[in-house]
Amino acid sequence: MSASSAPPSLDLTERLSRRARTMNASAIREILKITQQPDVISFAGGLPAPELFPLEEVRQASLAVLDRFGPAALQYSTTEGHLPLREWIAAQAGIPAANVQIVTGSQQGLDLLGKVLIDEGDVVLVEAPTYLGALQSFQPYLPRYEQLPTDEGGIDVDALEGVLQRSGAKLLYAVPNFQNPTGRTLSAERRRRLVELTAQYGVLLIEDDPYGQLRFTGMPAPSLYQLGLELHGDVNRNHVIYSSSFSKTLVPGLRDAWVQAAAPVIAKLIQAKQGADLHTPTFNQMIIAELVHDVLPRQIERVREAYGQRARLMLERIRADFPQGVEYTTPEGGMFLWLTVPDGLDTQALLPRAVERKVAYVPGSPFYALGGGENTMRLSYSNATPAQITQGIRALGDTLREALN
Ligand code: PMP
Repeated sequence: MSASSAPPSLDLTERLSRRARTMNASAIREILKITQQPDVISFAGGLPAPELFPLEEVRQASLAVLDRFGPAALQYSTTEGHLPLREWIAAQAGIPAANVQIVTGSQQGLDLLGKVLIDEGDVVLVEAPTYLGALQSFQPYLPRYEQLPTDEGGIDVDALEGVLQRSGAKLLYAVPNFQNPTGRTLSAERRRRLVELTAQYGVLLIEDDPYGQLRFTGMPAPSLYQLGLELHGDVNRNHVIYSSSFSKTLVPGLRDAWVQAAAPVIAKLIQAKQGADLHTPTFNQMIIAELVHDVLPRQIERVREAYGQRARLMLERIRADFPQGVEYTTPEGGMFLWLTVPDGLDTQALLPRAVERKVAYVPGSPFYALGGGENTMRLSYSNATPAQITQGIRALGDTLREALN
């Protein structure tokens, strides 16, 4: 083709949808780039410990699945998910399998829930701070966020009533167990109040619970979903939508997770998922279904034990090595803890100095839907050895001390 007949040049950026233009590169992904130097001890990523993955068990399960199911393990399958896996999940929750939708990671569940629940301008209530990935999933559906105040016991439910009265909210998203990013857990009394208040105001409640099984100390509290079931007495009237995952209890790479919800929500999730990926990989679901009976309970014990040790060590070293005035949460499970440094110190600005001292964290501000938290940071202890924790916390203590002087 000659130059004279070339088509007019197209501004591809200008042709993107309004939805696409609202998407931002995840602040954390950008930060992880500078923290991923080989000699930097990183408390920044939220990765499960790979040395605990049940490699041999997954290998055995893969072979067993191929032997048992043959080509069906590699064929297309139903959008709802592999029935034995749905039945197992449903039995744990005491609900019918019809109320369980398998999703390709709970991250997909959040995206699909955004798609089927959020209209432009709908008010979505989120914890301050909240899981950044949920904000990323919901953002393209153009919600208006309102932040809920939180403290050591999770969402401040007294403040919530005022917000519900004036906001006309459609949806509340919460991570009640060992929250990402703070490691905090919503207290049992507040759970009841949260479920009752949202029901009373007709607000849907998404309970995102990938960490609930990873409790290493203290007593478990009932799930919001279970409290919703008790309140309504009918699985198909429950206003609580529950999401969980095998990513943190087994392995994240198979991308197997699920949503439990009332029939009208499940029906729409199925349609939305058909458009997204038809179904979660058949083979992966069959492998997970093979592992849930014997391997999963053992694996949960192993992971709890290891993360409990790592969390205790990190807290001990924080108490020993950090300057006065730095506050920290004390998680009872999960993978994270949260630091609040004295006002005026900006953890984003401080990060390069920490990286110079060979330690990295995630600044807290990106976890706030509407901004704030400049003096906070998230630390993950799940993917660090004891020696790294000791050395990294000392380096972070030195960084903070220098900044405060
Ligand atoms: N929700 C929360 C609160 C998370 O921390 C994560 C993982 N970081 C997810 C959802 C997504 O997990 P997955 O897609 O691996 O199930």
